[in-house]
Amino acid sequence: MGVSNPHFLFYHIFIIMNHKIITRQIIKEIIDENRTPVMKYYAFDWDDNLMFMPTKIYLKDDKGKSVGMSTEDFAEYRTEIGEKDFNYEGHTIVGFDEDPFRDFRVTGDKKFLSDSKSAKIGPAWPDFVEAINNGSIFSIITARGHTPSIIKKAVYDLIKKNAHGIDSNKLAKNLLKYRQLADEDKLTKDQLIKTYLDMCRFYPVSFGEGSATNPEQGKIDAMEEFIRYVKLISHNLQKKAFMKNKISNYFTPFVGFSDDDVRNVEKMKSHFEKKDDNILQTYLTSGGEKKLYEDIY
Ligand SMILES: [Mg+2]
Repeated sequence: MGVSNPHFLFYHIFIIMNHKIITRQIIKEIIDENRTPVMKYYAFDWDDNLMFMPTKIYLKDDKGKSVGMSTEDFAEYRTEIGEKDFNYEGHTIVGFDEDPFRDFRVTGDKKFLSDSKSAKIGPAWPDFVEAINNGSIFSIITARGHTPSIIKKAVYDLIKKNAHGIDSNKLAKNLLKYRQLADEDKLTKDQLIKTYLDMCRFYPVSFGEGSATNPEQGKIDAMEEFIRYVKLISHNLQKKAFMKNKISNYFTPFVGFSDDDVRNVEKMKSHFEKKDDNILQTYLTSGGEKKLYEDIY
């Protein structure tokens, strides 16, 4: 029997290990060299990942006063709020203020638009620039509850302004090259950008019913939807390319997700890594630095 032969066994272990190494190598090359923008997809948390916005969450101190907390500090303190009293910037915080997320909802839509024009960029910004300049499909998955089209409008404005390294000419060129939008109609550069943003996805997960205090599940649901969408468009692009005889072998798409909140990244990773057909890679950007989450834990 072949199986009892140690050479046979070692040979097969070698094949399996080798296959894993090769698969990992291919994914690494796609990540590193960014050669195939139509197979690489991105998902970004907004606050403290793409941008450091000045928006505050409102808490209450022991004297009944309203105290604003930055989103960066909120990622650190949020499980303690209302659970136990703690000191924050000279106040004893006892819980949330009335409507603590008032600036993160539809009522804060205008503020989001203006803040995004002046906010400092965050650790995942270079990836955002890479995604846009290559014409890659991305999604914004944020705990905020703004009107989805407001976030799209903010990104449109950033593209039109060529903000912080975005190159709208490069984007237009790559859209024509990779997405063959040119076949469909003669589009102006502005129409190209708008069509591109219509293909991207914007998930403010506490819009409507969601909860901003526990955004993890909302973010997982949004990612489930985005991955289904990515698989569908990637399959369609593959079919189109196959018909035109451009690509003969099938490449699996993958999605890179970055968030600065370790609880979001942990929940997201452990939810998706259980799946056989997982295509998600998670990155943690806390402390202003991007790390592949697997590498540190
Ligand atoms: Mg964040």
